[in-house]
Amino acid sequence: MPLAVELIAVGTELLLGQLVDTNTAYVAEHVAAAGIDVYATHAVGDNEARIARTIAEALQRSDGVITTGGLGPTVDDLTKEAAAAALGLETELHEPSLKQMQDFFAMIGREMRGNNRKQAYVPRGSFVLENPRGTAPGFIAFNAAGKFVACMPGVPREMKPMLGDILIPYLRERYNLTDSIHTRVLHTVNIGESELDHRIADLFRSSENPKIAVLAHEQLCDVKIMAKAASSEKADAMIAPLEAQIRERLDGFIFGCDSESLESAVQTLLQNAERTVAVAESCTGGRIASALTAVPGSSKDFLGGIVAYDNAVKVAELAVNESTLAQHGAVSEEAVREMATGVRKRFRAPLGIATTGIAGPDGGTDEKPVGLVWFGIDDGEKIIARSFRFRGDRAAIQRRASIFCLGLTWNSLKFGEKTERP
Ligand code: ATP
Ligand code: MG
Repeated sequence: MPLAVELIAVGTELLLGQLVDTNTAYVAEHVAAAGIDVYATHAVGDNEARIARTIAEALQRSDGVITTGGLGPTVDDLTKEAAAAALGLETELHEPSLKQMQDFFAMIGREMRGNNRKQAYVPRGSFVLENPRGTAPGFIAFNAAGKFVACMPGVPREMKPMLGDILIPYLRERYNLTDSIHTRVLHTVNIGESELDHRIADLFRSSENPKIAVLAHEQLCDVKIMAKAASSEKADAMIAPLEAQIRERLDGFIFGCDSESLESAVQTLLQNAERTVAVAESCTGGRIASALTAVPGSSKDFLGGIVAYDNAVKVAELAVNESTLAQHGAVSEEAVREMATGVRKRFRAPLGIATTGIAGPDGGTDEKPVGLVWFGIDDGEKIIARSFRFRGDRAAIQRRASIFCLGLTWNSLKFGEKTERP
């Protein structure tokens, strides 16, 4: 029998928009990976009656509830009292937690207040979730019907190890959960979400376990393959045939899988080919250089870059012809070609990359609208020049253009001539 839970994030700040609830996403992801179904998530303010009611309602639908926040020593920390009320339990002193707290305060040389003592109380019969990184212990407690409430602190660095090291293993053992979700993520670049969907939609519909999900962000699209299985070997065997089919359908667009990033994929290709790269950036303002240097070991493949924003800098530093700029403008195929060649020669690099475009919000015309960006890659034998019109505000255009450029670079390193295809 699968175990179904609901998650509750406690804290008035969450309801006022002052704090972004990252705990729920974290708990949801890890609980789901452990093969536990999440039926709903909630956020509640620091109000005992409302917390208790939300817990009680959730327990009518689900096997258990997991809460974060409101376990501290202050008057607005009410989760424990609410959980006890919802479960119909008194609280009792947990001696080891009190002892641990006393030792902790002795060690830091501070007096322990009465309100800290409150933290050592847990609902009767709880299994206590130790908190080596803070004072508030978590706990899991059960009602007469065997449904549970597990409460953890709100501070992420205390909550995360408590969840991963104690609570999830405890739940898996107690509820005899053998399956977990194993995920393979295939990363694609520069293929639109609808085109991607079109290519794999039938696989989507026909596959239940493993399940497929598509996540689009900016120019990148991830295809997630999730298998529920008792071991990673079994999951791998389930994922492999589907992965092979997807790879065939998306040939040429998948640059990596799981934790691999686009910039690290570019780096791998550069280093395998023993090539280095130099970049000339106008509208991307150094973002491509920044991305490439974010990868450890980039000194082996990244030579340097020039942010050539002003036309005078394009001319002086990259040897772009003034007449080219006068005739075609800075945002043009001609200019980007000269920029790529200019930076390649200037740095004596095998590969020169360039961007020039209109990030907006001003400066667009009918002919050259905001979002139009030209890209150039000069490998010493040929120059590839491409343009693309990006949507979004200035920041989005800059981000998307940077990713697009890295994608184009990856493509040209991987497939050479084939790069001209859209
Ligand atoms: P403490 O002992 O620190 O009081 P607590 O369990 O009472 O811990 P809260 O008081 O609810 O936790 O939250 C403490 C801090 O933890 C918050 O100020 C916030 O920085 C962080 N936090 C709480 N809940 C969340 C959440 N849902 N997502 C992200 N961060 C959170
Ligand atoms: Mg608190």
